[in-house]
Amino acid sequence: MNAMIGSGKPRPRVVIVGAGFGGLSAAMALARVPVDVTVIDRRNFHLFQPLLYQVATAGLNPSDVAWPIRSVLRDQANTRVLLGEVCGVDLPARRVRLSDGREEPYDWLILATGATHTYFGHDEWSGVAPGLKRIDDATLIRRRILLAFEHAENAMSEEDRGRLMTFVIVGGGPTGVELAGAISELAQKALAADFRMIDPRRARIVLVEGGPRLLAAFPPSLSQFAHDALQGMGVEIQLNRAVSGCDSSGITVSGEKLPARTVLWAAGVVASPAALWLGVAADRAGRVQVQYNLSIPDHPQVFVIGDTAAFVQDGKPIPGIAPAAKQQGIYVASTIRNAISRKRQLPGFRYRHYGSLATIGRHSAVIDFGKVQLRGWFAWWIWGFAHIYFLIGARNRLLVASQWLFSYLTYGRGARLIVGSDGASKAPPGAP
Ligand SMILES: Cc1cc2nc3c(=O)[nH]c(=O)nc-3n(C[C@H](O)[C@H](O)[C@H](O)COP(=O)(O)OP(=O)(O)OC[C@H]3O[C@@H](n4cnc5c(N)ncnc54)[C@H](O)[C@@H]3O)c2cc1C
Repeated sequence: MNAMIGSGKPRPRVVIVGAGFGGLSAAMALARVPVDVTVIDRRNFHLFQPLLYQVATAGLNPSDVAWPIRSVLRDQANTRVLLGEVCGVDLPARRVRLSDGREEPYDWLILATGATHTYFGHDEWSGVAPGLKRIDDATLIRRRILLAFEHAENAMSEEDRGRLMTFVIVGGGPTGVELAGAISELAQKALAADFRMIDPRRARIVLVEGGPRLLAAFPPSLSQFAHDALQGMGVEIQLNRAVSGCDSSGITVSGEKLPARTVLWAAGVVASPAALWLGVAADRAGRVQVQYNLSIPDHPQVFVIGDTAAFVQDGKPIPGIAPAAKQQGIYVASTIRNAISRKRQLPGFRYRHYGSLATIGRHSAVIDFGKVQLRGWFAWWIWGFAHIYFLIGARNRLLVASQWLFSYLTYGRGARLIVGSDGASKAPPGAP
């Protein structure tokens, strides 16, 4: 099946599993390399996770933050795309196993299967407190938030109404902060005039964090800014509070019951099971402990990148963010290109950190560039343009970024439609 190179030899086969930030960057960087690339993903689109919280809070539509992988790679002649779920790797035979029984042979393998949220041993909480990782999570959360207001409008007692209008977010990292700010804006602005029996502006939004401050990875001054800004938006912040229980009536925090109809999970990340597929060492979050060049021990043609890899630089693990995954994808593609063309081996991978960003609502953000720190509306505009523009893997990024910005600033109404259903969305007792 593979094309030939000049000498009549078949071209090397590169299999990339996962078309997220890491996998897609690797695939694009191999566009002009004489290899046959196969990109395998269990879904047919590339998801722009940094804006997923906007879908979850009815600011954007799912189609605003996802692009079909086939169309992104359409013009790349050496690349084919397979829809399928990988469930194992046969290292001696150099084959990737798919859950439907198919097998895909490789000469070079790049695993870029990302991470998901973890409930720290309480998987039973997942039905009550969805995390935010996939489009399905975002639309489920959106449905629950919008239905909570609808049911509150119909509630028979103040007690029911209070529980329905309480939204708890567990985890004070960037996703928790973004969700809390966006739910506050939804309640304060987008929905404020839409109801008759309830005042959405009186919604109680509680952000629960186990540590002593929000945005623990940011400098303390930016954490404090985010804290004050969220409080100014009416968000109640509970620090140093551990969740010990979670059911359909609410959560238990530090021994106290907090009644809430909507609980969202933004705490804890665990890597995809790539370490199990490969039978190699992993860190506590399940990430594969990769070597200096992102390959695994004894298999120089197998690489693990992005959120699935634990790469330690200057004594510290590099962060699980999109730019790190993109840089790793490009690096591995260059390593393969050099090996094939018998050029000099690259020095080990080095991650370049350009900055950390978190938004707090539509007009405020914090950015940590290391020496320079920004906050407020100026930071938000930098985030809006630079971050989004540089991360988008789709063609025509300027158009995509402007479309996104337009729907974001105009509170796109289409994103507020309640569609689909899930067990937890049924009307509460007492509601008609
Ligand atoms: C809500 C949220 C907000 C975020 N915000 C930011 C932000 O603002 N800035 C930032 O830099 N980073 C942000 N991140 C982190 C960033 O999205 C990740 O670091 C980045 O996506 C990692 O890229 P990756 O390629 O490793 O994995 P991903 O982008 O997660 O891609 C993994 C791909 O692998 C596929 N896959 C998984 N398992 C299989 C399998 N078994 N078989 C086939 N395919 C499979 C998935 O379908 C997916 O397409 C955010 C993450 C989340 C969840």
